[in-house]
Amino acid sequence: MNKNSVQICAFCSKQKAEVNMLITGNSGNICDICVKQADSIINEERIASSSQKIKKDLELFKPVEIKAHLDQYVIGQDTTKKVLSVAVYNHYKRILYSNKNKKNVELDKSNILLVGETGTGKTLFARTIAKMLNVPFCIVDATSMTEAGYVGEDVESLLTRLLQVANYDVALAERGMVFIDEIDKISRKNDNPSITRDVSGEGVQQALLKLMEGTVVNVPPQGGRKHPDQKYIQVNTKNILFICGGAFSGIHSIINSRIGKFALGFNRKKQTNHQVDDDILKYLLPQDVKSYGLIPELIGRLPILTHLEPLNKDLLLKILVEPKNSIIKQYETLFAMDNIELSIDLKVYKLIVEYALNFELGARGLRAICEQLFLEALYNMPSNNSTELTKFHVNVKYAKEKLSLLNSRKLKEAS
Ligand code: ADP
Repeated sequence: MNKNSVQICAFCSKQKAEVNMLITGNSGNICDICVKQADSIINEERIASSSQKIKKDLELFKPVEIKAHLDQYVIGQDTTKKVLSVAVYNHYKRILYSNKNKKNVELDKSNILLVGETGTGKTLFARTIAKMLNVPFCIVDATSMTEAGYVGEDVESLLTRLLQVANYDVALAERGMVFIDEIDKISRKNDNPSITRDVSGEGVQQALLKLMEGTVVNVPPQGGRKHPDQKYIQVNTKNILFICGGAFSGIHSIINSRIGKFALGFNRKKQTNHQVDDDILKYLLPQDVKSYGLIPELIGRLPILTHLEPLNKDLLLKILVEPKNSIIKQYETLFAMDNIELSIDLKVYKLIVEYALNFELGARGLRAICEQLFLEALYNMPSNNSTELTKFHVNVKYAKEKLSLLNSRKLKEAS
């Protein structure tokens, strides 16, 4: 190149003086503005081709179909089933029809926040929907994440997991679902007297904001910290559905005090802060979650807020036996594989439920309790080597004897 000639951008013909930077290659120059434009064209192309692929593979289920599917696996929680069915339908409809949307009305993403005690089915909901839609799905724990640069996992590592589940098919990962568990544990620590940054609380919330809204992220394919020499995979989070879940223990009193004030304003009987009503979650509003410690910007990115009801005796009993892959059906199948026919007294189911209620683990405790109940039988009976069908009946006496060995602390650790 002639040193005396004026250096211009080969794309827009602007001179060096007119741009911030001119990058010189072997046979020409390109300015910073054209680099940015080229980058956005590449991105648009990528998104367009990935949405073509999505159209080919993604089956759009109607809300009624999604709910019917959920009914097979999740007991109760009717309101949440409906809310989620509609939200998930709208989310994937938004992706599938984004190009057909002639009026160019921007449809917001319907990320979801599930509030409910531990073991009420939050993860089960997310997992069941992802399986039905056949989209990549991963679960991450909010408490394991920290703001970039601090000890702990970067928030973006959740995209590494999603990529891994999608077998590094970026288009597939870009329409996946992420379940962020324990979101309540990264609440802003208002009363924290520490002068250090809140890198695992509010810092993580801030980092999640962009991801949830939709942005292009450079993801380290093998996870770990970002490193200058590492090759990244670009993932656009615009169409990834984020479902967050948390127990928000103590939120009852926040709702209660708000309702109390409201009731007073309308000259109704005031509820006191101490009145904790099991049903109170149905009055849950975004402002309660804000009072709990989620930052308003994050709540704004989780427009679908719904709650799960605590599980009572009847529901726990149903969970034990009714779902398509209920715990009891799973044990029956396990025994049947060894030619053993399992039968259980109704009173034993009730006993298992009593234990689960006592341990306050929701439905999560049921499996651990059953594990204890059947341990001996699962250990000894397969060695019988009998070709005949063996009958194994569990009555209350047997169950009480086996369950008397249960230790609540061990159970909590196992769940
Ligand atoms: P959470 O995420 O709310 O803590 P999970 O979804 O992990 O709870 O539930 C724990 C286990 O309890 C699940 O594996 C599932 O088998 C069972 N379970 C919980 N709630 C329900 C429900 N409503 N219907 C059927 N099974 C449930």
